[in-house]
Amino acid sequence: MSILSLNQENLKEFLKINNLPSFHLKQINEWVFKKNVLNFEQMSNLSFSLKEKLNTNLKISTLKLVKVECAKNNETKKYLFELEDKKLIETVLIIAPNRTTICVSSQVGCTVGCKFCASGKNGFFRNLKTYEIIEQILFVANDLKKYPSHIVFMGMGEPLLNYDNLIESIKILSNENFLNISQRRITVSTVGIVPQIKKLKNENLKINLCLSLHASNDEIRNKIIPFSKHFPLNDILNALKDYFETTKRDIAFEYILLEKINDSLIDAQNLYNLIKNFQCSLNLIPYNPIDDGDFIKPSSKRVEIFKKYLIDKKLNVTQRYTKGDDISAACGQLVLKSI
Ligand code: SAH
Ligand code: SF4
Repeated sequence: MSILSLNQENLKEFLKINNLPSFHLKQINEWVFKKNVLNFEQMSNLSFSLKEKLNTNLKISTLKLVKVECAKNNETKKYLFELEDKKLIETVLIIAPNRTTICVSSQVGCTVGCKFCASGKNGFFRNLKTYEIIEQILFVANDLKKYPSHIVFMGMGEPLLNYDNLIESIKILSNENFLNISQRRITVSTVGIVPQIKKLKNENLKINLCLSLHASNDEIRNKIIPFSKHFPLNDILNALKDYFETTKRDIAFEYILLEKINDSLIDAQNLYNLIKNFQCSLNLIPYNPIDDGDFIKPSSKRVEIFKKYLIDKKLNVTQRYTKGDDISAACGQLVLKSI
């Protein structure tokens, strides 16, 4: 059982049942969260009997590292983990000059099944537990030898469909007694689950919310994200407006560019009209090809024309440059692979 599956009360109880003083709780927290030590043996100020009790009953990491791949550029590293029920998930570390980002998975597979995304291709198995989300960060940080500056929920799965565990993990990540990562450096990307966006605005979190928009009308959006027929664009955008009114946090839109599907100049004009009244940024993501994918990555010229139109309109536009596509660690390429 993961020690992270126990809350502070449960841990106190564990110490009590084992006739151990409660001050050990603080020490254990410090070792796990502050010093990022993932082995009870290395916790030098714990008594022998406590270490023994911990070792027999609990684990700090239930994730088993199956494979790790490094991209040629050395800026991206992909970890394949096996969970206790043998399911596989992936976590990605992205190293840039001024930031290190861990991209975490929130589900095993994904129910949404976007046509361009590898994560949804093999269906959905289950939500990740809070401790499985936190363990991804503890493990990768331990490998990196420091905590990352940023966390993005952009790995496998739709985070807002694992709502309670997402919120609980954000609270643990940002709690100053635990990982103390500022909520302003935590980003949640969603395909747009309206009821959960409405709920999220009242959580009093300072996180960044990204909407995977990908099309400026329901017709195209429903084709590439069939699930989106449950949530018309208008409802999503209204929910985001309310979200902004309550939280005062800018919205980020993500827009995957698929040749001849959503990347024409008219698409750029429609996109501009759709989001121009938002205090927002726009992240353009040229499609990363996936196995059996039906789409084409637009040429850099088409991307430039699309981008220039929006920049000229004074939108805050960035382009996501593909990192790690040689190890299938780029957006949408995370998939349950057999090894
Ligand atoms: N489920 C959430 C978060 C995970 S996906 C969401 O959809 O937002 C993270 C990002 O990767 C999303 O913006 C998604 O649209 C994008 N993505 C998925 N497949 C992709 C692909 N093949 N090429 C480029 N981006 C992709
Ligand atoms: Fe799920 Fe996001 Fe992939 Fe769509 S893009 S299938 S919502 S993980």
